[in-house]
Amino acid sequence: MNDSLAATAAPALFTLTTGPVNCYPEVLSAIGKPVLYDYDPSFLEHYQSVVLKLQKALGISTMPVILQGEPVLGLEAAAHGLVAPGDRVLNLVSGVYGAGYGEWLKPLAGAFHEIRVGYDQAIDPADVQAFLAAHLDTAVVAVCHHDTPSGTLNPIAEIGKIVQAHGALLIVDAVSSWAGMEIDIEGIGADLLITGPNKCLGCPPALSILTLSDRAWAKLEANPKAPRASILSILDWKTAWKASEGFPFTPSVAEINALDAGLDRYLSETPEAVWARHALTARAMRAGVKAMGLTLWATDEAIASPTCTAVRLPEGVDETLLRNRMKQDYGVVISSGRAETFNALVRIGHMGPTAYPLYAVLALTALGGAMGALTGKPLDIGAGVAAANRVIQG
Ligand SMILES: *Cc1c(COP(=O)(O)O)cnc(C)c1O
Repeated sequence: MNDSLAATAAPALFTLTTGPVNCYPEVLSAIGKPVLYDYDPSFLEHYQSVVLKLQKALGISTMPVILQGEPVLGLEAAAHGLVAPGDRVLNLVSGVYGAGYGEWLKPLAGAFHEIRVGYDQAIDPADVQAFLAAHLDTAVVAVCHHDTPSGTLNPIAEIGKIVQAHGALLIVDAVSSWAGMEIDIEGIGADLLITGPNKCLGCPPALSILTLSDRAWAKLEANPKAPRASILSILDWKTAWKASEGFPFTPSVAEINALDAGLDRYLSETPEAVWARHALTARAMRAGVKAMGLTLWATDEAIASPTCTAVRLPEGVDETLLRNRMKQDYGVVISSGRAETFNALVRIGHMGPTAYPLYAVLALTALGGAMGALTGKPLDIGAGVAAANRVIQG
């Protein structure tokens, strides 16, 4: 979607978006490395080492799969691989991405159902339990963990437990939450989880990262409709991680180098430390937003994401004018809403290199300043910054 920032064509000084985000410096350097021939034995070895590093970062026992396109490819591939003809499918919708996923699932499913809640709320696990109890043959359930255009989290651990007990397979879109917060992928029973390096890992958009349980692999292999010899094929890439195997087609060499650097950064900083600074930045941001008299989008702060803060737009404030003003006066670029949340909220990303609490202070200043200038009613930026500081100081 066009963010209509045409009025401010100068590059942003601070990109505080919800993805893609600017990359870590070491990631940017890695993109400039020589692009090796993919069948050069040193690249085959390198690819294997990157997938092993990725497995460690994901904290899983099976081998992850990298697909060579930004995470939307992985999401579509997951639907095509996991949904077999005749399957009863349940899609959980609490936002724009959840709703969008239904567009892929619906034509593939034998029977298609959705549980929908308002886009400022989260799915209630009890509703999932009730649905599955009434539809025992449900084969696949899909949920978006962090529906980014709402900045809200769904309770995937609780949902996962219910789906696992029922025996259905669970697809999880964790594109904008993984690497920004703890996700116990196997513990929650995610059978096919899709994420990407272009959000909290601070890498460029170009790859999909998928984790598959043994049950998910078995389903793919038994599914006559699971893509083969296709850009959407997960099966084609199953053994590509092995240096002895090679690739179904050319991998994105430069982006694999970038992913390698992003993983090094994540693992050396330690995932726990990375999650902690995401959480701290979001808490500082939320405290500041409230102290300036603005309202969070999430109806319950407990479901507000640590990787993105969505702020409800006051009546009469146009999001494009607001973001243009933020860019023009402060050099700060933030994200708009999407589809149903467009012009209802604005979003500040706390992802990877921008998940440091001082960026919350910066975002509060730009947001409060621009909004005050637009409406003619100054906001108390001092109160916002002070509240953020209290969080930072603990
Ligand atoms: C970013 C994102 C994706 C991938 O979509 P993009 O085209 O990279 O924006 C998928 N799901 C979620 C929840 C995301 O935040």
